[in-house]
Amino acid sequence: MLQSKVRTDDYIHKGKRQILLDEISNKGITDKAVLNAMMEVPRHFFLDPAFEVIAYENRAFPIGADQTISHPYTVAYQTHLLQIRKHDKVLEIGTGSAYQACVLAKMGARVFSIERQKKLYDYNNKFFYLKEFPEIKRFLGDGFKGLPGFAPFDKIIVTCGAPFIPEQLLEQLKPGGIMVVPVGEGEKQVMHRITRHADGFSEEVLDAFSFVPMLEGVQRK
Ligand code: SAH
Repeated sequence: MLQSKVRTDDYIHKGKRQILLDEISNKGITDKAVLNAMMEVPRHFFLDPAFEVIAYENRAFPIGADQTISHPYTVAYQTHLLQIRKHDKVLEIGTGSAYQACVLAKMGARVFSIERQKKLYDYNNKFFYLKEFPEIKRFLGDGFKGLPGFAPFDKIIVTCGAPFIPEQLLEQLKPGGIMVVPVGEGEKQVMHRITRHADGFSEEVLDAFSFVPMLEGVQRK
């Protein structure tokens, strides 16, 4: 499991982070706002100290409860697709380690993030770094339902593999709003970007990724 002791972010971490971001940029995500936000968030804080030396490799890692912190390239890719503007109201499905939520918050978004696993939700209540982010509101719940009480949202990001496009989330999107969601069961999911217009939705079908599955219901233990 992750640990909550205060940790440092020194020049070695920053140097490794810069190298990782150069790699992401070379792979095609050159969006400065996204890269700057990822430079500001110390990714190693989200991992157990045992993984710290490899925190800046471009790969996913276990965060406990059989879940992973997304691959940095995937975070950059999804965040870029969202076209975040300051003060955007963003719904995230799958808080996990809260890394993605912090990147969004650094870009000026007001983040509403849902996690279905109580263990991960509870862990984040004690996670020291999140105390710097009062603009991130976290919820224990089922992401398939979204947060109707807080809708509509400017942007919605699903960070687990959805078996289909969740209808209730589409309904919670503002006109002009964007939802980014990996869709597919099994090994691979295909990234979809859906834009809501005054008179309906349009959809772009993009690259394939590998996500942990989006599951129904709340897991309390
Ligand atoms: N955004 C996370 C990625 C975590 S992996 C990060 O930055 O670390 C995806 C997460 O989605 C897991 O924690 C998993 O428990 C959660 N999840 C899966 N199905 C869900 C659902 N229906 N509602 C909310 N969270 C869900």
